[in-house]
Amino acid sequence: MRVNIQLQCTECKRKNYATHKNKKNTTGRLEVKKYCPWDKKHTVHRESK
Ligand SMILES: [Zn+2]
Repeated sequence: MRVNIQLQCTECKRKNYATHKNKKNTTGRLEVKKYCPWDKKHTVHRESK
């Protein structure tokens, strides 16, 4: 089952990316390093509900 999620920057708390994940394969919270245009660097983006 696919669910849409938003990826929130852990530094500025902005939601920069939208993606989806497969609930069966992904356990727990998704964490990805992505470029944040607000911080102008790569930061950890976390799944936000
Ligand atoms: Zn940021």
